[in-house]
Amino acid sequence: MLSFRDIPVKQKLMMATMVTTAVALLLAGIGIVLADSLLFRGYLQRDLSGLAHIIADNSTAALAFNDQRSAAETLAALRVRTHLVAACIYRRDGTMLADYRRTGAQSGCPAPGAPDGIRFTSAALTVSYPILLSGHRIGTLVLLYDLGEIQERMKLYGLTVLGVLLASILIAFVLSSRLRTIIAAPISQLARAATSVARTKDYSIRARKNSGDELGVLVDAFNEMLAGIQSRDDNLRNALLDRQEALKEAQNARESLETTVASIGDAVIATDIEGRIVLANRVAQSLMKLLESEMIGKHLDEVFRIFNEFTGAKVESPVTKVLREGAIVGMANHTVLIARDGTEIPIDDSGAPIRGASGEIQGTVLVFRDVTAKRRADETGRLLASIVESSDDAIIGHGLGGVIIAWNRGAERIFGYSAEEMIGKPASALTAPGRVDEMPEILERIARGERVDQFQAPRRTKSGTVIDVSITISPMYDALGRIVGASKIARDVTGQVRAAERLAQMNADLQRANENLARSNDDLERFAFVASHDLQEPLRMITVYSQLLIRTHSGEFDDQAAMCVDNIVGGTKRMRELLSDLLAYAEIGGTPEEPVQTVDLNVVIEKVTQNLKVAIEDSGAVITAGRLPSLSAYEGHFIPLFQNLIGNAIKYRGEQPPRIHVSAQMSDGELRFSVADNGIGIPPQHHQKIFTPFKRLHGKATPGTGIGLAICQRVVERYGGRIWVESDAGKGATFIFTVPDIAIHAVEEN
Ligand code: ADP
Repeated sequence: MLSFRDIPVKQKLMMATMVTTAVALLLAGIGIVLADSLLFRGYLQRDLSGLAHIIADNSTAALAFNDQRSAAETLAALRVRTHLVAACIYRRDGTMLADYRRTGAQSGCPAPGAPDGIRFTSAALTVSYPILLSGHRIGTLVLLYDLGEIQERMKLYGLTVLGVLLASILIAFVLSSRLRTIIAAPISQLARAATSVARTKDYSIRARKNSGDELGVLVDAFNEMLAGIQSRDDNLRNALLDRQEALKEAQNARESLETTVASIGDAVIATDIEGRIVLANRVAQSLMKLLESEMIGKHLDEVFRIFNEFTGAKVESPVTKVLREGAIVGMANHTVLIARDGTEIPIDDSGAPIRGASGEIQGTVLVFRDVTAKRRADETGRLLASIVESSDDAIIGHGLGGVIIAWNRGAERIFGYSAEEMIGKPASALTAPGRVDEMPEILERIARGERVDQFQAPRRTKSGTVIDVSITISPMYDALGRIVGASKIARDVTGQVRAAERLAQMNADLQRANENLARSNDDLERFAFVASHDLQEPLRMITVYSQLLIRTHSGEFDDQAAMCVDNIVGGTKRMRELLSDLLAYAEIGGTPEEPVQTVDLNVVIEKVTQNLKVAIEDSGAVITAGRLPSLSAYEGHFIPLFQNLIGNAIKYRGEQPPRIHVSAQMSDGELRFSVADNGIGIPPQHHQKIFTPFKRLHGKATPGTGIGLAICQRVVERYGGRIWVESDAGKGATFIFTVPDIAIHAVEEN
């Protein structure tokens, strides 16, 4: 329920008006009634006193004469006074002379004896009045008067007051309604305006002024206050907008700064004036192997540990240096940053102060980068430059117009001109006298991106001599990949040209000598063949006649003659063997009469075994062979080849019976045969020489001519293969020979 304070002013006004009116009227009414009641009492006292006086005077005679009738008649005159309840006349002794009672009255006169005067009780008024005769009391008149008259008056007054009160309230209500409109309406309107302003925060709202009284002044003050607030609000809003704008701009600037800093390829760290890190971009975090949260707020020196690469000494903190110098500072060379994981990173860095608007230093910014790659590139650059400089070849750079822009020491050595002399000169300065300068045409090709590989041309040196140079020219590109010139590498090949000429001459000489040698070789072979063949006959004659001599005249020989004849027989036998082997060796070099045939090497081994049957049986040799292929070849070549190898394996046996194994396998595109034995073996130092004709490692105790392996080598080489031995003394020997791919295509694999 609303308290009085909270109810609207207009109601308050109305209530105030009405309550005031009612109270005022009520008090006035009560006052009037009370006053009237008092006045009326006085009046009644005076009236009754007068009435008692008159009655007492008129009763004096009746009393004096004890005339009851006359006294009663006097009293009867009182009947006009309707409120007189009773009247009695008492004698001096207190007996009643006469009385009067109003019709219907209950009570009679009060007993005499009461003091004279008028006495009020709650419901009546009693008058005791002395009846005098000549100044002497002869009796008492007592009147009993009810107060009904007073009550009637009060009732009348009360009703009048009530009527006036109601009428006044009604009029007050009507008037206050009117007044309310005049007084409360502007207040309500003011209140509405205030509420609306409070709700909408629209300070442009104004209350309407309807009067020039205090309310008008209040409205004016209110409107003025609103105007003030509005102006302040506008100012505030504008200030707020400006601030927001500034904040936004600052935010944008910060974001753009952050994006810029984040996108910078270099590591960036910013610190406050105390050296505490306030910003570290991603490159810095990744180089230092630290998270942003592990850096922000830390002092730079805690995380940015830098040392001199060579001395290992701590490098001064960039923050300290920047704050001391108050300017941009570069860091010392050969600074190494130690990352969190201990990695050492060579860095190149610089620091600068961060200044506020008024120029005071607010912090520092440190920019650094990993220079490992740059160092490597520098190193490579230096290396390339030193390669170019130390090259014996002339390395010359040309612009596309042919002007020389680079000239190394090699060029100085070859052409005799220094770099100062040649840079800026045209390439044609080196053209040999009487020769067309080919460079313009070459540069056109270079401009099209072509490369000109090794061509030879004569060039004129500073001393005027003409030298031969081998030149390679390639396009030269700039950083954007555009062809900006040509790099020319020229090598002085004058010596080589002369040497090549000499070599060609020597080749021709050699060719001629070879032809002569081949001719004399042929002649020799022919001679060896003819000699060994033709010598057979006289040898056979010596043998036959020696044997005949022994058979027919042996009895006549003394010991010395017998020994001589024996030596002749032995010598001729050995001579025959030598001639026979020599003939076989010579025959390998010649062209056989029969055509090339498919030679099954398994059959060849069988035939060889048959040929060596006696030796095999005598030695108890065991010969095994893997599956061997067939070749397109001459059987007459492969029988002596295998027979010599297997025969040697039996001949140069050890203490055990010979174990010989023949095998063949494909290896690296060639057929590889091997004949392995368990014989006495061959020391490594003899592995080469045993293939030389007549070279033997054993004396006469072991039969042989020393030509067997030479024949084997000749056969193998005739087919384009190689032969060698793998052996060691006492460990058996394995002879290996190959038949290359040119012969294999004809091989029939079995
Ligand atoms: P010859 O057997 O007639 O002496 P070879 O030309 O066949 O001539 O052999 C040359 C030398 O190589 C032989 O004198 C021998 O000393 C050595 N030789 C050849 N084959 C073997 C072998 N299987 N084991 C040991 N020595 C061998």
